[in-house]
Amino acid sequence: MGKRRPLIAGNWKMYKTAEESAETARQLVERVADVGDVDIMIAPTFTALASVFKVIQNSPVALGAQNLFWENEGAYTGEISAPMLKSVGCQYCIIGHSERRQYFAETDETVNKRIQAAIRIGLRPVFCVGETEKERESEQTLSVLDKQVKNGLKGLILDQLDKLIVAYEPVWAIGTGKTATDDQAQEVHQFIRSLVEKNFGSALSDSIRILYGGSVKPDNIAGLMSMPDIDGALVGGASLDAESFSKIVKYKLKA
Ligand code: PEP
Repeated sequence: MGKRRPLIAGNWKMYKTAEESAETARQLVERVADVGDVDIMIAPTFTALASVFKVIQNSPVALGAQNLFWENEGAYTGEISAPMLKSVGCQYCIIGHSERRQYFAETDETVNKRIQAAIRIGLRPVFCVGETEKERESEQTLSVLDKQVKNGLKGLILDQLDKLIVAYEPVWAIGTGKTATDDQAQEVHQFIRSLVEKNFGSALSDSIRILYGGSVKPDNIAGLMSMPDIDGALVGGASLDAESFSKIVKYKLKA
């Protein structure tokens, strides 16, 4: 198995104004200036992207968005396109987060269109998948993930997927304080990697980064990162504070 560079990503959801975001980004940049062996990304709200980019542009912290629309431009009031995100400094875009699936009618099909749009413009999609509590209890976890991965990546070919990142986020673990155990997460990550291998071959399955998300905190990151198929984390609540997020980024110091 090839060595994969860890990625620790922060999803700031609908928190913080442009000024507050820039201030948190400033505090984060100060704390992670010496980090060279982990990729770091933060995804503030759309209105804070430009102010945060100014702060992080010469630092190890990269910029991500939380969503995009698949057309480049047009009469789509309220939407934001991939080229628009690129133009304000985004390198990444979270796609298909469970909150978007749950509250904004996101489906596997619309997730697929968004992933294609991100790839066309050269953004790194952070493609979120995960089962609900009910699905886990009824032992449907793997079949749900199989369907989400297959449909989300429909029509894409190997050559288009070098920038793809997958985030496994069990819905029951998001914002609940309930983290999947290291073994539960590893089992699913290994399964996702095997799906990638089955559909796209072992070069991609060896190199693709699969992040875990769901109540990641400074005190549980080291255990998760010790698992062979966990390559990083997508962090919600604990990424809003520069001190706790930087501790997660520096998980190796805690081991
Ligand atoms: C998320 O929003 O992607 C997430 C994982 O949230 P939290 O870390 O707060 O559970």
